[in-house]
Amino acid sequence: MVFSRRAFLGSVAAVAAGGATKGQAASSSSHSVVVVGGGPAGTCAAIAAARNGADVLVVEQGNCLGGMGTQGLVGPFMTCYDKSGEVQVIRGLFDEIVRRMVAIGGAIHPREVRAGTSFAAWHVPGHDHCTPFEPEALKFVLDDLCREAGVKVLYHASFVAPIMDGYRIAGVEVLTKAGLRRIAAKTVIDATGDGDVAFRAGVPCELGDPARGGAMQPATMFFRIGNLPEEAVEAVRKQYPKDILCFKTLIKKAKADGKWHIPRPHVNIYRSVKPDEWFVNVSRLNGVNATDPQSLSDAEEAGRRQVREIMAFFREYVPGAQDVRLLCTASTVGIRESRHVAGEYRLDKEDVIAGKVPPDSVFLCSSSIDLHGGKGAAGTLYLTIRDGNWYGVPYRCLVPKKVENLLVAGRCVSASSVAAAAIRVMPPCMAMGEAAGTAAALALKAGVAPRALDSAALVAQLKRQGVFLG
Ligand SMILES: Cc1cc2nc3c(=O)[nH]c(=O)nc-3n(C[C@H](O)[C@H](O)[C@H](O)COP(=O)(O)OP(=O)(O)OC[C@H]3O[C@@H](n4cnc5c(N)ncnc54)[C@H](O)[C@@H]3O)c2cc1C
Repeated sequence: MVFSRRAFLGSVAAVAAGGATKGQAASSSSHSVVVVGGGPAGTCAAIAAARNGADVLVVEQGNCLGGMGTQGLVGPFMTCYDKSGEVQVIRGLFDEIVRRMVAIGGAIHPREVRAGTSFAAWHVPGHDHCTPFEPEALKFVLDDLCREAGVKVLYHASFVAPIMDGYRIAGVEVLTKAGLRRIAAKTVIDATGDGDVAFRAGVPCELGDPARGGAMQPATMFFRIGNLPEEAVEAVRKQYPKDILCFKTLIKKAKADGKWHIPRPHVNIYRSVKPDEWFVNVSRLNGVNATDPQSLSDAEEAGRRQVREIMAFFREYVPGAQDVRLLCTASTVGIRESRHVAGEYRLDKEDVIAGKVPPDSVFLCSSSIDLHGGKGAAGTLYLTIRDGNWYGVPYRCLVPKKVENLLVAGRCVSASSVAAAAIRVMPPCMAMGEAAGTAAALALKAGVAPRALDSAALVAQLKRQGVFLG
């Protein structure tokens, strides 16, 4: 359902006159920028917009900021360095967040974390200078940064429908505990990960990869374990030196015994900043469509079922892990891919691997294409930059087609399925958020639609904010 601006204004007047009736919005408010989704992209968008003078509201369906990084228990932050491992290319708000977490003992700065270590699950490609962090520390730091910037957050609020004025988005309707609420906005930023706002506003979107019959990357239920000493894991790795990834041989044994049904032949365990605690990225849920409520719900249950099997595997097959404890499962299943919103530019595989840096690039990054399921159900298509040490993501990827006053940031940004598999990780998502929030505020100040914003002015402001652009 799409609401027209006339109906919206009528209901605002009715509410103002104390005349809200059954079925109408319980209350209403108005902000210059409304960010839908408080994940890594949305939170950075909100902070950047507020710091640039906008009055900002974040609408978040969960109970904390951070999205997959908190509710999804996803971590570490993948690399923020260039391909050579010499230059930190994602800086700006991302780096500020990391430093704040380091200051409270909730993260290790990426300059100190190298590939091939337990913090990187012993992976090498794409894992140099990753950032181990505590989800609770991320929650605290994002709360602080938003409060300090004057960002308002509405939790337990789900986006329901856009309020449209022709091709212009004029606000959003959200569902809260007090019923429906209509929120007027001069600019809306879609940071839902799934492109919920853009899709409902009528922006063309691709679901998954049309070239592969709409296939989407598998989902994963992340979980956290404790009481597993690093020495025990290292001993197992010494015992099976040919296993590049953890516990491969032991999984083969469990599979032969009929005790491993997960379509993934290895275990990724990432050491936490806390001793003996790990984040486990193993479960594999194929065929999940995060835009289909039943498919998403079924994935939550199936994910927890896989967690129980993995825990049983640790206790029975991994020497030294018999006393491992399940600390918690994620409060949302991890979604790697759903909709890709069509924008003024569509980032493609060649942009990434050829290391292209368009003049309106709003950040640089070196994240590799990491397409789970891209080589058959259990295989991953992994491609690193061929030419150069980084590529740039242009502002045009954040500007959706067809609808005015709407920006998009994060996982659902305008990119092909293959290119999105590179920029979907959290540091680029935060950088996109910072760019989208800054653009929204600058466009409002200039009195132009985000589409018409002078990208040179945006790039200059991002540089002043500490964003690295070469
Ligand atoms: C299994 C898995 C492993 C990963 N591994 C890593 C890794 O090791 N390192 C790394 O850096 N990245 C990793 N990623 C990628 C990364 O976590 C995500 O792609 C990234 O968090 C996307 O950021 P985002 O802000 O776009 O979306 P999200 O993090 O998904 O945040 C979206 C936010 O919007 C909210 N929202 C959604 N819809 C609505 C709505 N309709 N109304 C209101 N609120 C809404 C959600 O509650 C959420 O808070 C992984 C992802 C997965 C799933």
